[in-house]
Order: sequence, then C-alpha cells, then structure tokens
Amino acid sequence: MRLLLVEDEEKMVSLLQRGLAEEGHSVDVCATGGAALERGLQDGYDVIVLDWALPGVDGVTLLKHWRAGGVRTPVLMLTARGTTPEKVTGLRAGADDYLVKPFDFEELLARLEALARRGEAEDGPVRLGALVLDPRRRVLRRGGREEPLTSREFALFSALARFPGEAQVRSRLLTQAWGPDFDGNGNVLDVYVGYLRTKLERLEVTDVSIRSVRGVGYKLAVSGDAPQ
Ligand code: CA
Repeated sequence: MRLLLVEDEEKMVSLLQRGLAEEGHSVDVCATGGAALERGLQDGYDVIVLDWALPGVDGVTLLKHWRAGGVRTPVLMLTARGTTPEKVTGLRAGADDYLVKPFDFEELLARLEALARRGEAEDGPVRLGALVLDPRRRVLRRGGREEPLTSREFALFSALARFPGEAQVRSRLLTQAWGPDFDGNGNVLDVYVGYLRTKLERLEVTDVSIRSVRGVGYKLAVSGDAPQ
C-alpha cells in the first residue's frame, strides 16, 4: 500500500512509519495541514491516515476540502478525539473509518488493509459520453487513446464532471482545484481550462466540452444537454 500519513506528533509518526514499513508499505508524511492539503489532492495514495488536531489547517477541514475537490482516496481518521459527536463529525466530513488514540497497531493495520481493498473496488472510471475520466490512473480516455492529467487538471476536471451540464461559479472551481486558501490571480482558472480543452481536442472529443458561462464561470457540456 502507498499511504499518506498526516500527523504532527513525532513519536506517533516514527511508530507508524516503522510499523507500516515493516509490513512492506510505503509512507509519505505531512506534519502540517498546509502541506497535506496539496499532497492529498495528488490522489495517488491507497489510503490516507489523518490526525484531527494539526498545525495550520485541521484534519476535518482538510478532509472536506479533499472530498469537495473530487479526491476519493479512503481516509481513516486517527485522533485522540473520541466522543460520539466528534466521530460523527469526522465521518460526515468524509472519513471512511475512525480510530481513537491510543490504539492497537494490529487493528489499525487491518482497518487500513480493508480500506485499501474497498478503494480499489470503488475507484472506478467516470463516463461522460464517449469520454472516460479514470481517477485511478488520472487520465482522460477516449477509444484507445489517453491524455494524462496533472493533479490540478484532475481536480478541476473532477469538479466540473461532478455536475455535468450545470454552470459552476468561478470561486467554487478555484476552491476545489486550488484550495480554500487560494488568494492568487483567478485567471489561473482560465489558463487551466485552456489546458483541459487542448487535451480534449487532442483526444478528438466532440460530445464533451468546457463552456464559458458569462458572469458565472464554466460548465461541462455533454452532448445533448447544450447543443450548439
Ligand atoms: Ca495532532
């Protein structure tokens, strides 16, 4: 398994890193919410282990952001916060499992393996007309041809593909692809829409397009919902 561990307590990090490495798993560590925000969007992980209390952005906020951005990687929250309302908050924010510290390493391992199996089964392709978005390999595919997407392109296309045919406001698309703290130049959105359009053209996709919606933002048009 390839795991992302988001945890700021050094002792916990070294304990988990050692234990998981001994089981043959590879572990990347983020010790702050800010670092984890970007890393989680890369979406190349089998499972994410997420602490709640972190410097910077907290775990629940991170999780909501990832889910809004189309990240479907299974997430296990590993936290000292063990009350029922806290568990409910974590699960409702998009956690797939919740384990309270202190915990038994064997139980954590078994839960992570179960989540990875489930993720493999569910992380299936999204079909839009003749076009397929494959989240697992992070590519757009049509017929036998593929265009790989960068993590940002993937996050943006996933946000558009979540509501095909519906206009989506620029601020939502920026938040989903660039994170809630984005305060740069919003023109970057148009630049990335341009990249995605080029990839659709290369695939000679005719039934899916990204349309500008004046005064709002963009929408993903799938043939039939907005003929032109
Ligand atoms: Ca912590």
